[in-house]
Amino acid sequence: MTTSQQIIAQTDQWGAHHYNPLPVVIAEAEGVWVTDVEGKRYIDMLSGYSALSHGHRHPRIIEAAKRQMDRVTLTARAFHNDQLGHLLQQLSELCGMDKALMMNSGAEAVETAIKLARKWGYQVKGVPRYEAEIIVCDNNFHGRTTTVISFSSEETYKHDFGPLTPGFRFVPFGDSDALEAAITPNTVAFLVEPIQGEGGINVPSEGYLRRVREICDRHNILLLTDEIQVGLGRTGKLFCFQHDDIEPDILILGKALGGGVLPVSAIVTKADLLGLFVPGEHGSTFGANPLACAVASEALSVLVDEHLTERAAEMGDYLRHRLNAMESPHVVEVRGKGLLVGVALKPELGGARPFCLRLLERGVLCKETHKDVIRFAPPLTITREEMDWALERVEAVLLEDLPVAEKA
Ligand SMILES: *Cc1c(COP(=O)(O)O)cnc(C)c1O
Repeated sequence: MTTSQQIIAQTDQWGAHHYNPLPVVIAEAEGVWVTDVEGKRYIDMLSGYSALSHGHRHPRIIEAAKRQMDRVTLTARAFHNDQLGHLLQQLSELCGMDKALMMNSGAEAVETAIKLARKWGYQVKGVPRYEAEIIVCDNNFHGRTTTVISFSSEETYKHDFGPLTPGFRFVPFGDSDALEAAITPNTVAFLVEPIQGEGGINVPSEGYLRRVREICDRHNILLLTDEIQVGLGRTGKLFCFQHDDIEPDILILGKALGGGVLPVSAIVTKADLLGLFVPGEHGSTFGANPLACAVASEALSVLVDEHLTERAAEMGDYLRHRLNAMESPHVVEVRGKGLLVGVALKPELGGARPFCLRLLERGVLCKETHKDVIRFAPPLTITREEMDWALERVEAVLLEDLPVAEKA
């Protein structure tokens, strides 16, 4: 039999070391549970950073995928397929927008939004060619392509990968005055995560997006919200921008849109915006393939039919309440919205990873983010009993006295 250890060694030998995964090798999964090669079961409290919001192998989504696999899976965009139109309408209506454009990965959708915002700047706003500026936030995460890392504030993401794409300016996240001060006549857009996920589960102060929307309107710049991680129910609203009762000009989606099965991303906009693209200007061989469309469509239907947004709100309140009640001596703050929760540990503990390793030992999968934060983002389908199972183990670890060597 091949052991987890052997598989990890094989992966290390033959693969790049561009990740630092926890030492668990998953072989099977169902719902919120995964099983490793040795047969040990774990509860998945990360859910693929929201890509598994529906849980692993949701029966309806798997069924939709199988059905479509027996019909047609790929046409490329040289021809129409019979799944795309339905998905575009369903997605646009769900978002309260007019048009959608399908891509594969989240980073591709961000790239698509950037291209569209720049084109709008030149064609509609009248910015001189190649002078368009897009404002982004410190501590952002929008993906890993060359242009997207160009506006990362994380040095390791970009230091050896230049020359970088110009045309981006930084402002502190959550500071609407700084945004307004950074706007120039050439500013075409502000790109923001309504809650910063990779940045450490940073929730801006009440009304931030409303002030941002107002500033964007006043200066005629587009508001691009990256809801790849926080959208589709995760924060207890279908979309995070709904907490502030506003609408973005371009909504960027990914992760959960693929139902935990396939990479599916999209940008969703008001009609006059997506209408700016003409044939030849943008595309992707696999974008909007009929298999991905069938899966995404079912993923959206399940989200609505199973009231996953409401469940995220309710279970998220419960999770945060329980975490706070633990009064762990190691915890500085519990933050987040819905089922996106960050537990910030005291910096002198030297990072959240040892905690994640101890949780792993006890059968709870989660991952550190931004060094000191444990992120809990379970599937939105998680039941109260499953949450309690996880919390019992989380409590044991958070209340544990640390081994002397790990104390500051
Ligand atoms: C994951 C993520 C991305 C990138 O998505 P990929 O599918 O990994 O390219 C972009 N923005 C946010 C907010 C994300 O969480």
